[in-house]
Amino acid sequence: MKQRILIIEDEVSIADTVKYVLEQALFEVFCTTTAGEGERLLRQCKPDLLVLDIGLPDMNGLDFYRKLRNEFDLPVIFLTACSDEIDRIVGLELGADDYVTKPFSPRELAARVKTVLRRFAFANAPALKRVAEFELSEERRSISWHGEKLKLSRNEYALLVALLNHPGRVYSRRQLMEIAWEEPEASMERTVDTHIKTIRAKLKTINKDDPIVTHRGFGYSIS
Ligand code: CA
Repeated sequence: MKQRILIIEDEVSIADTVKYVLEQALFEVFCTTTAGEGERLLRQCKPDLLVLDIGLPDMNGLDFYRKLRNEFDLPVIFLTACSDEIDRIVGLELGADDYVTKPFSPRELAARVKTVLRRFAFANAPALKRVAEFELSEERRSISWHGEKLKLSRNEYALLVALLNHPGRVYSRRQLMEIAWEEPEASMERTVDTHIKTIRAKLKTINKDDPIVTHRGFGYSIS
């Protein structure tokens, strides 16, 4: 299931560009121009992350955030045109997850969205996860297989975490890159195969069973 992003931004051209880039990154995106409608969409669409402009026509975004944060537990990235507001956003007063100052690159925002979602998932993840013979601790950033800790590169680790978080789910190469790579657009889908190959080689030194399933011409799953 795609992760959902709600954008509350009254400058339609900005909202449209951000929506486009986030949809390219395989998010489901909802947009509105007012805080009032935004509150309704928060309840109705249950987004995973909120992109919130501060200068909204019906309410200041900071006040809106203050109002909603008791009810909704989701990460928020603020959009601001005014550098004076930054201190208030990042300061203890609000403890926001992130902010972007206008003008900004939509790709940069998309990268921030991914980082914040990852951080949020990490903070809410159970300390230790067992899948088949794997033991995953995102807190310690470590994965063991048959009781032995794997030495993994950053991308290998991210790939395995993605697969282990949804055992049985088949991911396409593109999806794995979108989840695991910092800059998926800069990589070829074949690099996923290369990383899977090195992961398999590392697993094989511990146990000969191969827990990774290849779905020919599509992608991979675990079990
Ligand atoms: Ca505005």
